[in-house]
Amino acid sequence: MRSAAFPDNELERIEALKDLAILDSVPEQSFDDLALLAATICDAPASLVSLDDGQRQWFKSSHGIGLEQTGREMSFCAHAILQPGEIMEVPDATQDERFADNPLVTGEQQVRFYVGAPLVTEEGHALGTLCVLDRRPRHLKPHQRAALQALARQTVAQLTLRSVRRALQKSLEDTRTYQAALEDYQDRLRQLNIRLQALAITDSLTGVYNRLALAQQLTQALAHAARAQEPVSLLLVDADYFKAFNDTFGHQAGDEALCTLAQVIRAVVREADIVARYGGEEFVVILPATDGAGASALAERVRTAVQTSGWIHRNLTVSIGVVTRPPGHPRCTTELLIADADAALYRAKAAGRNQVVSAEEPRI
Ligand code: GH3
Ligand code: MG
Ligand code: MG
Repeated sequence: MRSAAFPDNELERIEALKDLAILDSVPEQSFDDLALLAATICDAPASLVSLDDGQRQWFKSSHGIGLEQTGREMSFCAHAILQPGEIMEVPDATQDERFADNPLVTGEQQVRFYVGAPLVTEEGHALGTLCVLDRRPRHLKPHQRAALQALARQTVAQLTLRSVRRALQKSLEDTRTYQAALEDYQDRLRQLNIRLQALAITDSLTGVYNRLALAQQLTQALAHAARAQEPVSLLLVDADYFKAFNDTFGHQAGDEALCTLAQVIRAVVREADIVARYGGEEFVVILPATDGAGASALAERVRTAVQTSGWIHRNLTVSIGVVTRPPGHPRCTTELLIADADAALYRAKAAGRNQVVSAEEPRI
């Protein structure tokens, strides 16, 4: 028995075969069909789609012969692929010195007749053969050779198709994985954005709106009031003698007192009212759809709540300036509203602090 030599492009050829990821795969109908057609056309009892991986011949399809693979040394196909452009016909293996003592010939398989059409890829790699076998010596007729050649080409096309299909599936899976990762990333980005937006409009010490948000909220409230033909009111709340509080109890205690003050104000006002820190120890409350009487009453409730809160270090009080604008009033800008509230606050301070003063109706 003479083992076949290796083809010149053996390393590349094996790479190409491995790239197909077909070795040791499960049987597939399309290859079984091709083997069956080869046997039928050649009027032979057995046929194989045989792939040579350099060490063995492994059968992607095996028809009429109970084998899944054999060692390369007893492979007829290993000889056939040395002439990739031609069909190899062995009319009687017992008369061929390459195969006469081959176990496939001398053993129970009793192979006598073999014809193999190499499976040659577009790149020129002969991966194996489509072959037919018989137990009696014989020849193939020319039309059978031509048909076997054609079927070998179809087998290569099937191998290519299978490989393309696998690549597409892989790329589809990759796309889905990337898509999922991207969606996850976008989700986290959205959440981060929401947190950032909240941070951008929140006063870090007290948790109420900051001055930037105050300007936006007041502009919106004024626009809404104009559309809805409603009054809008605003309170400017300032802690009394807060510098002294800081000087006596320290800045840290002052900070804690400001947080408590913000909480007390929030607890007193209504859901729709907007609380913001205007500056150091000053807070603004926007009161949508609230007239002068309503605003003064609410301001008074805030003042009382602060005075009666259980303060740790020293009782704190606030002075409050109140301003109200009826619908359509020409002095309805954020600056004018705050300026008028500030003027009222100044009067509350001057009058002794811990009190509520409403802005005088400004001259139009
Ligand atoms: P008035 O009754 O006239 O309002 O007196 P006041 O001392 O409260 O007013 P003034 O404007 O003289 O001082 C405000 C003080 O508020 C100055 C500063 O020590 C304090 N302050 C401003 N911002 C903060 C802050 O973020 N934390 C602390 N702890 N204190 C602050
Ligand atoms: Mg102040
Ligand atoms: Mg103050």
